[in-house]
Amino acid sequence: MSELRDLYQELILDHGRRPRNSGKLDSPTHHADGYNPLCGDRIALYLEMDEGRVKSVSFEGTGCAISQASASLMTEGIKGKTVAEVLSLFRKLTATVTGRDDDAANEGDVELGKLAVFEGVSQYPMRVKCATLAWHTLRNALEGKDVEVAVTE
Ligand code: ZN
Repeated sequence: MSELRDLYQELILDHGRRPRNSGKLDSPTHHADGYNPLCGDRIALYLEMDEGRVKSVSFEGTGCAISQASASLMTEGIKGKTVAEVLSLFRKLTATVTGRDDDAANEGDVELGKLAVFEGVSQYPMRVKCATLAWHTLRNALEGKDVEVAVTE
C-alpha cells in the first residue's frame, strides 16, 4: 500500500472526492472525450474559448482518484490562460510525470503550481496515464478532435 500512501496526497484525495468544475458547459466551443484503457478512466472535457483564452472549462469523468483529481486541478489551473500557455503547461506537466526532467526544464519559468503534486507519479509508470489523461483530452479538444481518443502515449 506504499504506492497509495505516496500518491494519494491530501490534495489529490480532496479533488478526487470533490471534483471542481464538474459537469457540462452550456455552450462549449471545444469538446473531447478521453479514455485510459490501462485503468478504465474516462474524461469528457468541455471548453469555452474567448479571444484565444480559456473562459470556462469543465469535465465529466469516472475512474480512479488520480485521474479525476488531475482533471479537477487542471480545470483550476488553465482558466484564463491562452492556448500557448495551456500547451506549455501540458508539455511541462506530461514531461514531469513521465520523468523527462530536461523536457520539463525546457518549458522555462512555467509554474506547475498545485499541479506539482503529481510529480510523485513519475515513480509509478502504471499511473502516469491516469495523471495525464485529462491533459491529452484537453489538447485533443483544443485541436478540434471531437472524438473519444484512447490515450496511448
Ligand atoms: Zn486511473
